[in-house]
Amino acid sequence: MPANIDLKSLSKADVYRFAAERGLPKYRANQLLHWMYERNVRSLQEITEFSKALRNGLAEGSYISNLELADRQRSKDGTEKFLFSLEDGQTVESVLIPDKDRLTLCISSQAGCAMGCGFCLTGSMGLVRNLKAHEIIDQIISVNRLIAPGRVTNIVLMGMGEPLANFDEVVEALWRMTGLMGISKRRVTLSTSGLVPKMLELPAKAPDVNLAVSLNATTDEVRSRIMPVNRTYPIKELLDACRRYPLKPRRRITFEYVLIGGVNDTRTDAKRLVKLLKGIPCKVNLIPFNPHDRSGMQRPSEETVLAFQKIISDSNMTVLIRESRGQDILAACGQLRGKQKQKKMEGRG
Ligand code: SAH
Ligand code: SF4
Repeated sequence: MPANIDLKSLSKADVYRFAAERGLPKYRANQLLHWMYERNVRSLQEITEFSKALRNGLAEGSYISNLELADRQRSKDGTEKFLFSLEDGQTVESVLIPDKDRLTLCISSQAGCAMGCGFCLTGSMGLVRNLKAHEIIDQIISVNRLIAPGRVTNIVLMGMGEPLANFDEVVEALWRMTGLMGISKRRVTLSTSGLVPKMLELPAKAPDVNLAVSLNATTDEVRSRIMPVNRTYPIKELLDACRRYPLKPRRRITFEYVLIGGVNDTRTDAKRLVKLLKGIPCKVNLIPFNPHDRSGMQRPSEETVLAFQKIISDSNMTVLIRESRGQDILAACGQLRGKQKQKKMEGRG
């Protein structure tokens, strides 16, 4: 008796192979992909385009896995946070951010994160485990199903985890998003803390989605203190890689800069930032620090944030202040942490 195959764990090529091995024509494989990735079915039985005999036949030896919704919270600003449990009981969070004409889903690429950035709640929990490609994609499928007939229009890989530290699974997930779910590459953004070699490998391996780089400081001294990855790939190396990064016409790299009171928010920092980014087609997103109980860091005053922004915009760079949404439900940038882990830690005292 062959093992029970999770059809969602298969790549597109593997689904074709799976169908061929069962003597099914290629259009059946395409139908299966369509129902899994665009019609968001949770079981073979829901594929009504297949005869009962075909569904039952497939159910002998294969199935469709699903994330389980463990919690759903809505912020007063309309942002929603979803807590999903995975097949092994680990949890991840996804955040849905409605905005005028778009519905952006912020998804996780890992449970926890090993990068240890000092300002980030996810970082404080360490890495629990990498997500499989289907667990990354299934966050989108599950949310699409929960909000039907609405549909997610934009994806940001800015939830829990460092996407490039889970390279192969994230690349496969990007192919499925853009190839099987019909999400435009221009509407997908991958955010990295700056794993330079993987960043440089990305263009050859993955669809050309948007790239965001979390810079967060303008000197190696400060960046290494708040982002340990900088000790391996310091600012110059990171920005050299950004300069070499192949960009399609009219595309730009986004630099994220979390403004932390008294750490990286001076006028000198703003001027240095302008100098550092000179010559890179880019835009800057300033994210005022979102407080949480594990950081001991502060959000700068509004005045400081605006002064920082003005210095950058005065030098003709595009700069936005990204007020993170969903803070009242801990859904904002850097505030995500799966629930079970927390319980376990409390259990351990
Ligand atoms: N690991 C990736 C993507 C997830 S973090 C990365 O670091 O880029 C997404 C964004 O949230 C990053 O730009 C990060 O700098 C920012 N962030 C983390 N903690 C934050 C906090 N407490 N307040 C505001 N932004 C935060
Ligand atoms: Fe990981 Fe990004 Fe948080 Fe750093 S900011 S700990 S890389 S999730």
